[in-house]
Amino acid sequence: MDSELIDLHIHTSASDGTYSPQEIVDLAKKQGLKAIAITDHDTIEGNKDAIEAGMKKGMEVIPGVEISVEWNKKPVHILGYYINWKNEKLSMELQKLIKFREERNPQIIKKLNLLGLSISYDDVKMRAGEGTIGRPHFAQVLIEKGYVKNEDEAFKKYLKRGAPGYVEKRRLSTQQGIQLIKNAGGIAVLAHPFTIEGINHKEMERFILFFKKIGIEGVEAFYPLHTVQQTQQLQAIAKRYDLLITGGSDFHGEQKPQIQLGSGFGNMRIPYELVIKMKESLKGWKRKNG
Ligand code: AMP
Ligand code: ZN
Ligand code: FE
Ligand code: FE
Repeated sequence: MDSELIDLHIHTSASDGTYSPQEIVDLAKKQGLKAIAITDHDTIEGNKDAIEAGMKKGMEVIPGVEISVEWNKKPVHILGYYINWKNEKLSMELQKLIKFREERNPQIIKKLNLLGLSISYDDVKMRAGEGTIGRPHFAQVLIEKGYVKNEDEAFKKYLKRGAPGYVEKRRLSTQQGIQLIKNAGGIAVLAHPFTIEGINHKEMERFILFFKKIGIEGVEAFYPLHTVQQTQQLQAIAKRYDLLITGGSDFHGEQKPQIQLGSGFGNMRIPYELVIKMKESLKGWKRKNG
């Protein structure tokens, strides 16, 4: 029998995922997962519904968030776990990030229009529903309008960093992002380190050590885009420097249909043991800080 499995990186309709928090809990239950974490981009809105649904249906739901920060002019994602999602400072700061997005989105529309594409902000808002708007929603509209075949083409041709429809997002600094999570009682984790632009396996150890110095407490080792060797390297680094290990599928529902909840491309197995380690570390933190 498989041991107890988890998924600690999940997007819901509160950001650019297509399943509601309740639907995520149902799906996780169906897959037989023991615990999940909701990690929407720059928002904690999905946590409440997921936690309530989890209590009703018997699924351990860890409150989380995925914050985009800036490091060396590059985007880096920081995951926050066990955050107090009622923390006012956290809500306020995240509200600002949503405002930054609202300033950025019409600029993306403008760029796409200048490229001759007929797309309006209302089209994108309609696609996004109630959740925070992100580039995947722009990609969906471009597909629907027949400008591109799929999301990959939408990003390559128009939306990715360096493409003609890209607009830089205002981000918190790495330190600000990490502090925000820690001030809300959470554990800050460096997300999918091997997807960070310009960092290869030779530099990874030094890179993670730097992030540890500025407050990171864990690394996301299990991730669909990480190779087996990369996952092992991250586990080894985490062990060497006494960092927590996390992992997740980065599930987005139909937005990224090739990724499955829990197993990613189908072969990922993330053990519940990682959750136990996180809880132990939280207890230790409380002891240290009275
Ligand atoms: P945003 O927060 O608006 O900058 O959009 C970030 C979202 O875009 C994340 O969900 C990423 O997974 C997705 N994304 C970023 N780059 C790509 C890419 N090259 N292809 C597909 N999705 C991407
Ligand atoms: Zn996303
Ligand atoms: Fe991410
Ligand atoms: Fe993500």
